[in-house]
This record gives sequence, C-alpha cells and structure tokens, in this order.
Amino acid sequence: MKALEERILKDGQVLGENILKVDSFLTHQVDFRLMKEMGQVLADAYRSKEITKVVTIEASGIAPAVYVAESLEVPMIFAKKHKNITMTEGILTAEVYSFTKQVTSTVSIASKFLSSEDRVLIVDDFLANGQAAKGLIDIIQRAGAQVAGVGIIIEKSFQDGRQLLLDAGVPVTSLARIEKFQDGQVVFAPADI
Ligand code: 5GP
Repeated sequence: MKALEERILKDGQVLGENILKVDSFLTHQVDFRLMKEMGQVLADAYRSKEITKVVTIEASGIAPAVYVAESLEVPMIFAKKHKNITMTEGILTAEVYSFTKQVTSTVSIASKFLSSEDRVLIVDDFLANGQAAKGLIDIIQRAGAQVAGVGIIIEKSFQDGRQLLLDAGVPVTSLARIEKFQDGQVVFAPADI
C-alpha cells in the first residue's frame, strides 16, 4: 500500500539489525486517517470470506484491528496479556514469545467470544517470526473456529513469520513487506496490496 510505504520511509526509524520503529503513527501515537484507510484495505481483501470476528493481541494490534472490524461490521476481540479478576469464566490461552520484548507471555481470550460458527481474520501491526499470530491461531482453532487469514500492516519478509503461517495453511495479506534494511534504510519487497 503506497501511502503506508511512503509514511514508513518518511517517519520510520531502523533500530539495529531487524527492528523498525513506527511509534509516531502506528504503535504509540496513532494516525487515525491512515489507520482507517489501512483497515478498509485489509477488510476489502477479506470481504468475500464471510468473516464473523476480527482477532488481535494487545496492545498495538488493537488500533488496526478495530478499523478492520469497523469496515467488516463485525466484533473485534483482543487477546489479553495479563489475566485480571474479571476473567472468571472459561479462558483459552497460548504461550507467545515476544520478538520485541524477548519474554514469553501467556495470552488469553474468553472462550465465550469464539465458537465453531466463527470465521476469524487475525490482524496485527507487525509480522516478524509469526509467534503472535501462531498463538492466536492455536486459541481460535481450540475454540472450534476457522482462521480465514492473517492481515498484517508491516511484514518483515526477511524473518520467518510468513512461511510459518503459510505452512499452517493460513493465507497472509500484508500492506507493506520489507525485504531488508540496508545502511539504516528500508528496502521494500512488492506488497500484497
Ligand atoms: P512475531 O510474533 O511475528 O515474531 O512478532 C510480531 C509482534 O512483535 C508484533 O505484534 C509486534 O508487536 C512486535 N514486532 C515485531 N517486529 C517489530 C518491529 O520491527 N517493530 C515493532 N514496533 N514491533 C515489532
């Protein structure tokens, strides 16, 4: 998606070997116009798939996921990283290793929000090694629901996430695909949209 690639080039910062910082429009401060447009483009890619729920993981997946859900007119559910005392009924959990925080955390979704009737679109801000998406797929499948695909804002194509998801039989759609970082600059691969 051209507007996203242009924004990454303008405001993204490459940190070290493999991290892109985009906190001025995506992961901390949110540009709602761009976010809404991205949500609509991802929703359009899955509009014919009869999606019933959008699922993401807190925190930075929530903003893109809510706009995808708005466009598809379905509920958005975010997996929680910390259990709290209001989660009294059945919960489904998965262990997810965080690429950026380098810790494993237990993520959970209340089982009442997913059923065998559901066709789910997973949405996240980044795809790196695919651990977040894999944990969500695991939870969704254990609820008896189907995963229709994974919609990603920024995919780092030099990491293993896409292949992991394709090997699991799940289609991936990314608005921007980064082939590599070269001398601190972002080099794009052709995006899916
Ligand atoms: P994965 O689970 O695919 O290895 O990593 C995806 C998760 O890690 C995303 O939910 C995102 O929060 C975080 N992440 C991975 N790579 C980056 C990155 O380059 N920049 C930022 N800001 N977050 C990232």
